[in-house]
Amino acid sequence: MKIGGYGDGDYFGVCYWCGTEFTGDKRATQCLECAVNEANKDRKELSVLRGIVEFVLEADEGGTGGTYNHCTSCVFDLIDRVEDMLKEIK
Ligand SMILES: [Zn+2]
Repeated sequence: MKIGGYGDGDYFGVCYWCGTEFTGDKRATQCLECAVNEANKDRKELSVLRGIVEFVLEADEGGTGGTYNHCTSCVFDLIDRVEDMLKEIK
């Protein structure tokens, strides 16, 4: 099993991220917990980015000749949503 900087093994190592001693692959740089946390964070960031891309595509579809047809309050709504999502991944 290999996640991020962690790999299975019998070598003792010190996690580069949290300083905890762990048993893993000779070249592992982080403990399993840190590797899992990091992987989850990446997934969250991806879903936020996907949300932004989806909105832009949607706005584009409604546009005519390069102008968007979203009103100001829709755009402010989106900005709030994006800010909430960004708070979650911090
Ligand atoms: Zn760690």
